[in-house]
Amino acid sequence: MNCIFCKIINNEIPSYKVYEDDLLLVFLDINPKSNGHMLVVPKKHYVDILDIDTAILNHIHKVTIEMYKLLKDKLNIDGLTLVQNNGLGQDIKHYHIHLIPVYKDSKLLSIEEIYNKLKQSN
Ligand code: 5GP
Ligand code: ZN
Repeated sequence: MNCIFCKIINNEIPSYKVYEDDLLLVFLDINPKSNGHMLVVPKKHYVDILDIDTAILNHIHKVTIEMYKLLKDKLNIDGLTLVQNNGLGQDIKHYHIHLIPVYKDSKLLSIEEIYNKLKQSN
């Protein structure tokens, strides 16, 4: 299947991976709306909210909360916006949730700088 996110999951395309387990991959968005913008993506190819097995949504939610804690801890974010596009407006037809950090003020850093901050151990 010619799906960019399946290729990222199968390591055919590189990505800045933030979290991985048997069911999900979380990686940094290549075109971030703010510092730390990341995508939570099920490893199985579901197209959108109409297609996804609802049994996985609780796990997606749990991991999203963990990522929020990581972003607060490592990047000191002031808020988090969740976006999940379906149909028109959804560019990649593989279900995903955007985690878009909100800051009182910040300048956009490079993805590599953000990745290093997220992976830094305290
Ligand atoms: P959508 O409109 O489908 O909700 O958003 C797709 C998102 O995937 C966009 O924010 C876009 O920047 C991101 N994206 C597209 N291609 C790649 C890629 O190859 N790598 C990464 N890390 N993100 C991608
Ligand atoms: Zn896919």
